[in-house]
Amino acid sequence: MSGHRIQWTFDRDEVVGKVICEEPEGANCRLTGGPECYCEEPDGYYWCYCEDYHIERDPDGTPFHVYEGERHSNIPMDGCNIVMSLDEDLLELGPREEFVIGSTPIAPVWDGDGYYWKRAES
Ligand SMILES: [Zn+2]
Ligand SMILES: [Zn+2]
Repeated sequence: MSGHRIQWTFDRDEVVGKVICEEPEGANCRLTGGPECYCEEPDGYYWCYCEDYHIERDPDGTPFHVYEGERHSNIPMDGCNIVMSLDEDLLELGPREEFVIGSTPIAPVWDGDGYYWKRAES
């Protein structure tokens, strides 16, 4: 399991993707930088702009990252860094690669001079 997925929905006008995080609370993507990062935002979070943000773990699981030789803590946050980052421009940030999102059985409906379609159950 990758821990993250995109859920696609279609409403006839457009296909919309939404990033979903399936990682448990406390996973690396659900942590933010601690007070040592010196960048407290008005919402009370310490967003980490440290250029080196590789999260490591103590043997007891305590997360931290090291920036310029100094240990910075990581603290839990609501939500997921990856979801927040990708949700800004999901379609622009992926690789240019064609793949099938899904396949939907349809029932063609004759409409005088052509067809329209509706979703079929199977
Ligand atoms: Zn996540
Ligand atoms: Zn930091």
